[in-house]
Amino acid sequence: MFVRELNHGKCKTYLIACERTQRAALIDPLRERIDRYIALLAYYRYTLEYAIDTHTHADHRTGVFDLRELLGIKAVMHRTAPAPLVDVHVQDGQQLALGEVTLTFLATPGHTPDGICIVADGRVFTGDTLLIRGTGRTDFIGGDAGAQYDGIMRKLFALPEETVVLPAHDYRGNQQSTIGEEKRYNPRIAGRTRGQYVEIMAALDLPLPDNVQEVLQPNETALDDDVMAFPSIAQLNKVRQLEPLAVSTLLRTADPPRLLDVRGSDEYTGELGHIPGSTLLPLRQLAARAAEIDDWKHDHVIAICRAGVRSTTAAAILTGLGFEQVSNLKGGMLAWNDERLPVER
Ligand code: FE
Repeated sequence: MFVRELNHGKCKTYLIACERTQRAALIDPLRERIDRYIALLAYYRYTLEYAIDTHTHADHRTGVFDLRELLGIKAVMHRTAPAPLVDVHVQDGQQLALGEVTLTFLATPGHTPDGICIVADGRVFTGDTLLIRGTGRTDFIGGDAGAQYDGIMRKLFALPEETVVLPAHDYRGNQQSTIGEEKRYNPRIAGRTRGQYVEIMAALDLPLPDNVQEVLQPNETALDDDVMAFPSIAQLNKVRQLEPLAVSTLLRTADPPRLLDVRGSDEYTGELGHIPGSTLLPLRQLAARAAEIDDWKHDHVIAICRAGVRSTTAAAILTGLGFEQVSNLKGGMLAWNDERLPVER
């Protein structure tokens, strides 16, 4: 397998390819560099098949959706990734063929809920789960230090010791490491219990990256900030989150809430279906078409999407437009389906 890191910076993008079949994949491409990636693919005469994000990034705009649109390749992310336009949703243990190379995906939540690592040909691309002599921060929304520790211990450290570790970031100029080295020398993990790890991560107190909202929400929605005005973190944090079973109970009362599904129409009728009685109004059109639901302003409205992230944005936007009581379906249609509640397609 051909492997090359393409950015030479703190943020790493890997080009991998099956040299026999010339089929290639990009792992964690940066949007600002896709012209360079496309030129390199042409130089090597590789055909790009997949663009893979190891998680929803908060520090750079993803290039996955632009590559998908320009080249018609398949976007690959974990099943719980909030963004639309993902063609292949992978789960723990799932495999994809890249020519004659097998990519094996490991679900490693912790840095984000949708974190994955990719094992291929003696390497593991660890995203922001395991870094060289470090680990990815766990203090963003949905972060979970305990889950991250479990993923590293049970899945990554179960790989052969000589497996080469290729992370999504390095802040100290390291190029690569191995599973065996990280087991022995990673100061956050080596010799630490789960409880100690959770304490270490809670004490880090890192500043938020610059422009986190300007980056995160476009990555979560695959929409540009010139298409819509995104709410602030404070506005998002104020949105009331309702579990699927709580929503289901409300729907059986005499005064049921209004259900507003903000996904795309293809998702609405896709594998996850939609809740019977819901109204479709895609997020990208929400502000422009809010007048259509003007008579809901005094009602309880529940916003719905795939994973509950885009709909939190929608709920904050509606609240800003004067809707008095807007809640969010926590975990979205993924969680609704997990509870085996009724859907239509
Ligand atoms: Fe990250």
